[in-house]
Amino acid sequence: MTTAIYPGSFDPITNGHLEIVHRAAKLFERVVIGVYSKPDKNLLFTTEERVDMARKATTKLSNVEVRPFGGLTVGFAREVGAQVMVRGLRMTLDFEREFDMAMMNKKLYPELELVCFMAAQEYQFLSSSLLKEVAGLEGAIDDLVPPPVAEALRKKNQESS
Ligand code: ADP
Repeated sequence: MTTAIYPGSFDPITNGHLEIVHRAAKLFERVVIGVYSKPDKNLLFTTEERVDMARKATTKLSNVEVRPFGGLTVGFAREVGAQVMVRGLRMTLDFEREFDMAMMNKKLYPELELVCFMAAQEYQFLSSSLLKEVAGLEGAIDDLVPPPVAEALRKKNQESS
């Protein structure tokens, strides 16, 4: 059985991420979304909230599970028995960073194969950070995230205003 991990901050999960998850779930028998639980950046949502939103968005996919993880991504891959790591590539945003990380991960865990999916055209410019910025200014985000995420963003805005 081929297990793939799809690691990230998912702060919050967007339709761009989900498009990748759907494609990965067709290709691999088991996909584990890894929600990074100790990031060094400022996050809007707690780990529990990010995991919960990702779970709600993937309930219909029977071979997809969501787990929090800390420490090295390759450690998480070993823990869940993954042979593959999935990442999404947007046109301008991701390549250089992914390349560096891929080289390092190859050193740390040579057996782990990286599979990058090209982001769908309609989500090329969608990032969680831009989404949060737009949502914070009360812009329309309903086409970009699943309904529970849109709701959670609205709630966060109300709490902070
Ligand atoms: P990270 O903190 O690792 O950047 P993200 O949650 O931002 O985590 O993204 C997780 C993965 O999903 C990364 O591989 C990223 O390139 C990819 N990704 C982010 N947004 C999109 C999108 N709109 N379409 C496709 N892939 C995306």
